[in-house]
Amino acid sequence: MLAIAIPVVLVVVGLIIGLTMARRRHAVAPVAPSVMVETPPPPAPAEAPAQETPEQPASRMVRLRRRLSSSNNGLAKALAGLLSADKLDAATWESFETTLLAADLGVGPTTELVDSLRAKLGVEGTSDPGVARQALHDDLLALVDPALDRTLNLEHEPALPAVVMMVGVNGTGKTTTVGKLGRLLIAEGKTVLFGAADTFRAAAAEQLITWGSRVGVETVSGAEGADPASVAFQAVDRGISDGVDVVLVDTAGRLHTKVGLMDELGKVKRVIEKKAPVTEVLLVIDATTGQNGLAQARVFAEVVDVTGLVLTKLDGSAKGGIVVAVQRELGVPVKLVGLGEGVDDLAPFDPEQFVQGLLGE
Ligand code: GDP
Repeated sequence: MLAIAIPVVLVVVGLIIGLTMARRRHAVAPVAPSVMVETPPPPAPAEAPAQETPEQPASRMVRLRRRLSSSNNGLAKALAGLLSADKLDAATWESFETTLLAADLGVGPTTELVDSLRAKLGVEGTSDPGVARQALHDDLLALVDPALDRTLNLEHEPALPAVVMMVGVNGTGKTTTVGKLGRLLIAEGKTVLFGAADTFRAAAAEQLITWGSRVGVETVSGAEGADPASVAFQAVDRGISDGVDVVLVDTAGRLHTKVGLMDELGKVKRVIEKKAPVTEVLLVIDATTGQNGLAQARVFAEVVDVTGLVLTKLDGSAKGGIVVAVQRELGVPVKLVGLGEGVDDLAPFDPEQFVQGLLGE
């Protein structure tokens, strides 16, 4: 009897141990998912100082104003030169025009500004600096166009998040802008999720995950080489189930062929829209790349319906005129400007503050 009972007990115990181990193995090693969600670690004040209270949007633009007026900005210099000229002869106007073009204002806006100022000041001269300053202020503001609607469209149905796609050439600052914008939105009390749909470089997803942990936002990412549209879809899907307000989707900016780019970005947008409408497509442009950057931006604007522009690296650009040039070229308002590499170095663009900065007011 005992001879039978002992092996039976041993087999039963063996089965129980085997089953428990198998269950454990399953718990610690799930099937590798194609899409991963990185949850930021809980904020630890000593290690994550970036998660302190974000700077208010209004004072961010004031910082830009200060930077513009104290910088060696070509446009600011041209304006100051005109204001301090003894007489407005042909040579003065010519040199003014040349400097405006060098500051990337663009041919059309430069001609408009010079013609208008010549009409206003040519007769009166600059004997009254106040009149000249006011004329410059008004004309510049008109060029930057304060009437354009620069608010981000983040309207969404209660059950769906607003979706913002960030597009643009690699290196312009897309990922950085997604990170900073996440923080700006959190400062406004919104809940945010990042989608790392730039799957062509492993580093891009890593970079976004790092930004996510800096600003306290989760990131949905895929394996390197995964289909960008599928990652974007998963991110929006997750955004819906989590009930977040905004999903910010970073995309790849390889300028291969126009058709390839169109297919890729078009597909990402179409696939997202199976879940929720894309409320903003923000085109990121590096302000320091001038006419070349503008030409590249034009290709993006042709392949995807851009609803707003983000002008990055305005802190390092000596050519503030690009603000006017990009809006004119692409027919879309500059909505945000990048002022540096810090977490709070992104500001909603304010034409009045911008012009005041250029005029050193
Ligand atoms: P992406 O390839 O378009 O995603 O570009 P990244 O976000 O990786 O940015 C490229 C580089 O530009 C990084 O070194 C950023 O820190 C830097 N950058 C981005 N925005 C700004 C800005 O507004 N000012 C400055 N000075 N640097 C910026």
